[in-house]
Amino acid sequence: MESIAIIGGGAAGLAGAVAAAQALRAAGCSDVEVALCEADERVGRSILATGNGRCNFSNASVRASDYRNAAFVGSVLQSLQGWSMRGGCTAGREAGVADPVHRFFADAGLLWREESEGRLYPQANKATSVLDVLRAKAARLGVRERTSKRAVRIDAPSAPEGPFAVRFDDGSVMRPRAVVLAMGGKHGLAVELPPLLRSGALSPVLGPLRSDGRLTRTLNNIRLKAVLCLCRPDEKAARNSIANDVELRSSALAAAAACGEDVGHADGGFRVTGEGLLLARQQGEVLFRDYGLSGIAVFNLSRFARPGDAVLVDALPGMGLAQAQEALGRRFEALMRDGAVLSGEDWGRGMLLPAVGALVLKQAGLSVSGPFAAADVPAFVRAAKALRFPVEGMADPAQCQVARGGLDIAAFDGRTLEARAIPGLFAAGEALDVDGPCGGYNLHWAWASGIVAGDAAVRKMVAGKEA
Ligand SMILES: Cc1cc2nc3c(=O)[nH]c(=O)nc-3n(C[C@H](O)[C@H](O)[C@H](O)COP(=O)(O)OP(=O)(O)OC[C@H]3O[C@@H](n4cnc5c(N)ncnc54)[C@H](O)[C@@H]3O)c2cc1C
Repeated sequence: MESIAIIGGGAAGLAGAVAAAQALRAAGCSDVEVALCEADERVGRSILATGNGRCNFSNASVRASDYRNAAFVGSVLQSLQGWSMRGGCTAGREAGVADPVHRFFADAGLLWREESEGRLYPQANKATSVLDVLRAKAARLGVRERTSKRAVRIDAPSAPEGPFAVRFDDGSVMRPRAVVLAMGGKHGLAVELPPLLRSGALSPVLGPLRSDGRLTRTLNNIRLKAVLCLCRPDEKAARNSIANDVELRSSALAAAAACGEDVGHADGGFRVTGEGLLLARQQGEVLFRDYGLSGIAVFNLSRFARPGDAVLVDALPGMGLAQAQEALGRRFEALMRDGAVLSGEDWGRGMLLPAVGALVLKQAGLSVSGPFAAADVPAFVRAAKALRFPVEGMADPAQCQVARGGLDIAAFDGRTLEARAIPGLFAAGEALDVDGPCGGYNLHWAWASGIVAGDAAVRKMVAGKEA
């Protein structure tokens, strides 16, 4: 029996296997098997860990511009629309579900609900329900799960139309007609691939940032609702980075537009702050840890950060600089009505948590125990609206949600995800050099690219048989 091998039984691999099996059925091919080859002893374990076990499986609004390598992603998402129109997911379409990935899940029987910022979670609030519907659908379509099968080497066909050779760590060899690489990025793509496939270095992103422990240690475990700005002090380097990175450029432009006049000065659509060029801005919760900064807003900044950058934390969000100066000036007068001398600590009480107040005072050059005067208000407000934390790098790679890098997208056709130089070899998910922010975008990419690759692999094979 002929086969299609999907290497990696994570999100992209499962979606790819389902789409491939669906396409085989639609083409009436009963003599081809879809083999989902997974190194682990069970498929989908990586899905269970997502969204704190709840699996934020997608987002209500996904645009190609949300991703790194947006033009390539745009092409894949367009192909996905084509798949959906060809009848890839009838029930979802009939139910009026607009997004093809959401249709795919509606077809598989998943119910879901939308939470803040468009995050989609399964109705049952458990990642297992996402995995279960996919595995059940795959089983109904005849997908064969081959677990504890770690691919160690893949060789391209030695003759046109010949089979690939996939070698596993148990010594077995499989000879499929098509291969979909869906090994994710976390294991460093530790498979020997045909030499024509270029693979960049992998670096973990979407995780906590390491900062100066002397600043963050006193704040350990404090959560703060704040606005966070990522700035690059070396303005020339920042402009170079922007010129070479479309996603960074749009992040910097969006951040500048969202900041308004309060932060630094405008310069050709960008903003130059006292800490250099503004590259990214996030609103949300920051979680201080003894080693640095964590929380979703920080995870999102981490996609653009590098050592030497600075994160500015606005601890008084919701008030512009002038508004804060005025409001805190009035607050000072109100506190002085009692006639006592205020210390820095007294001034911070009721406004910020003591440890945060103490750091603001320190960065403003003021004392916690010494007297606090009306003339100190402007410096305090400036420091509170831009508490500075130097970026020393990513903190714990194990906490990072995606690995940036992987297979060079230039080697793949964005319409089919087939390797340009190796017909019959496809790739999907995190194995490719695509990543997005938190909020369901990375899983959405995994499903979307998995479907496109799995479907295209079968259509290519069927076309070859008919020729
Ligand atoms: C803690 C955590 C939480 C996350 N939460 C979210 C979230 O809520 N929403 C979101 O959108 N994204 C989230 N992500 C990111 C998301 O999990 C990934 O983007 C997504 O899983 C990538 O899917 P993939 O199929 O490409 O890779 P993976 O899910 O990593 O799957 C790859 C699979 O391939 C297998 N494999 C690897 N090498 C081989 C080999 N040589 N042979 C055979 N099999 C192999 C692996 O064992 C694995 O099962 C989270 C990530 C982490 C780490």
